[in-house]
Amino acid sequence: MAGASVKVAVRVRPFNARETSQDAKCVVSMQGNTTSITNPKQSKDTPKSFTFDYSYWSHTSAEDPQFASQQQVYRDIGEEMLLHAFEGYNVCIFAYGQTGAGKSYTMMGRQEPGQQGIVPQLCEDLFSRVSENQSAQLSYSVEVSYMEIYCERVRDLLNPKSRGSLWPQEHHILGFCMQALSKLAGTSYADIADLMDCGNKARTVAATNMNETSSRSHAVFTIVFTQRCHDQLTGLDSEKVSKISLVDLAGSERADSSGARGMRLKEGANINKSLTTLGKVISALADMHPADINYEETLSTLRYADRTKQIRCNAIINEDPNA
Ligand code: ADP
Ligand code: MG
Repeated sequence: MAGASVKVAVRVRPFNARETSQDAKCVVSMQGNTTSITNPKQSKDTPKSFTFDYSYWSHTSAEDPQFASQQQVYRDIGEEMLLHAFEGYNVCIFAYGQTGAGKSYTMMGRQEPGQQGIVPQLCEDLFSRVSENQSAQLSYSVEVSYMEIYCERVRDLLNPKSRGSLWPQEHHILGFCMQALSKLAGTSYADIADLMDCGNKARTVAATNMNETSSRSHAVFTIVFTQRCHDQLTGLDSEKVSKISLVDLAGSERADSSGARGMRLKEGANINKSLTTLGKVISALADMHPADINYEETLSTLRYADRTKQIRCNAIINEDPNA
């Protein structure tokens, strides 16, 4: 994986009821991996085109042969990252885009069959691969945490009543970690699904209480996956640890200073800073909003995603042969 580039995917969602009732025009088209966007004010101009690792056409429904389902998105993106986690790499998947673009749908999805997003599908796949690889030498552990970052403050979604101070610390293998954040162990997909559910509910409740919407906060679901191997010949134990970070970012419209009008300044400044910094330094998965009125936002998301393609990974396997 060393030297590999960051994988970038964009996805176009169906129109919502409002867009349909307003007779919105779709300004995005996809051809293979290429996404093109037409300026609705200059529709005679050549569309702007960008090529990504994946361009997902989810604007229509399953009957359309081009249609990209939740399972397809998971198989391409989630499964590849899970396999890297089994190899002992830290991996990360981000969803970036305007509020309403489909970030939470892509990452978490809905609970109905076939509508689950990357996070639940990855957790389910993790446990099914673990049970396929059972042996006397191997043992596994899975620990999850779930936090929300709002205005540079961290909320522990698995322990929402906690008022304890959470502060970041650098760990030699896992990188940036939050001290005092709940890390709960799960031994089955059902355990993790319960935790995910509680966390998602806590996120909604907190947002309602604070009179804010979840679109203004970043949500980070982290899985620490440890594989221990006992060599029966030598009697030695070795350990591979991987951190899987699954991130649903705050709406990108706040990364643009013009969007800060009428908003509390501090909130605008913090979200702005984190997203623009992220834009410079780290990977992003891009989702977007296809209607003509959102041309500028969608174009800026495509540019952000395009920039992300330039990032090269410097990945290492987290293996300690004498754990
Ligand atoms: P965001 O998290 O980016 O603000 P959401 O994921 O909440 O946006 O999506 C906004 C709405 O659009 C939700 O009702 C969601 O269920 C719906 N939606 C988004 N993407 C899709 C998709 N690919 N297929 C069907 N519905 C979608
Ligand atoms: Mg969301």
